[in-house]
Amino acid sequence: MARALSAKTSGRADSEIDRELHRFADQFQGVHFFCPEGGRYVVAADGKAVTCSVHGSALAPRQLLAPAGESSTDKLLRDFTGMTVTLTFLEDGLHVTVSIGRK
Ligand SMILES: [Zn+2]
Repeated sequence: MARALSAKTSGRADSEIDRELHRFADQFQGVHFFCPEGGRYVVAADGKAVTCSVHGSALAPRQLLAPAGESSTDKLLRDFTGMTVTLTFLEDGLHVTVSIGRK
């Protein structure tokens, strides 16, 4: 998607290209991609790679030792108290119940 978009975006600001890429990705895949630690996704000038300002790229990934303070991941882990998964095999298939405990 980034390659297709970069082919028709010469002369436009990077931030405008990034916003349009996110909009196309949301529409095409029905999912909103975002960095859980507040990083910003940046498309390379040639459109061949996307890099997160916090986590790097697929070829050069980075990971913090712990979630960044006040990030959505940090808040989620602070509230997390446990999880239970129950699998039940029934005639019509496998039923899965996931219970997530939060403070
Ligand atoms: Zn990230």
